[in-house]
Amino acid sequence: MNGPFVLPVRDIVRRPGEMREHEFTVTLSEQWGEGIVSLAEGSELDLDVRLESVHEGILVSGTADGEYSGECGRCLTPITRPVEVEFQELFAYPGEEETDFEVQDDHVDLETLVRDAAVLSLPFQPVCQPDCLGLDPRTGEKLTVSTGTEQEAPIDPRWSALQQITDQDGTAESRAAEKEES
Ligand SMILES: [Zn+2]
Repeated sequence: MNGPFVLPVRDIVRRPGEMREHEFTVTLSEQWGEGIVSLAEGSELDLDVRLESVHEGILVSGTADGEYSGECGRCLTPITRPVEVEFQELFAYPGEEETDFEVQDDHVDLETLVRDAAVLSLPFQPVCQPDCLGLDPRTGEKLTVSTGTEQEAPIDPRWSALQQITDQDGTAESRAAEKEES
C-alpha cells in the first residue's frame, strides 16, 4: 500500500489504548471538488492525524487545513479562502465489522476519508464578501467595489439591527428601501 495519505499502524494494531499522532503535508495530485470552488491540483493540505487503537480497529480522527479557490457565486471574482476540515472514522480490522474503511496490510489509507470531508465542507454558494451585490443585470458590471467595511453614511443606532437583517439578505433593494425610511 502506498500513497500520500497512507499511514502505518503496525505498531499499534491489536493493542487497544495505544495512540499515535502524525503531522504531514500533502500536495494534491488532482483537483478535489467539482463545484464553483474546489481544492486545486497542486495545492497543499496540512494534516494533523490521531490514530487510536481500539478493539474493532483503528480509530482515525484529525483535521486537514487547506485552501479552496474558484469564483464568487454572485460576481464571479476569483476567490481563495482557507478551509479547515475535521474527520473521524473507524478503520476496522478485516472481516470484523461492516464498514467503509478497513485496516489493510497494517496501514490505513485516509485519502477517501479526507477527500469526502473536504469536498463536503466546500460552500455551495461561495461569495467574495458577505454583502456582495453581484452583477448589474443590465450592464454585467460588478456592483460591489470595496470590502464589507464600507459605510456609505453613518447609521442611526436604532437602525443598526435592521441593517444587519438586510445585510443578511444581501439585496440591493432592501438597502435602498431602508435608506428611504431613515
Ligand atoms: Zn462577489
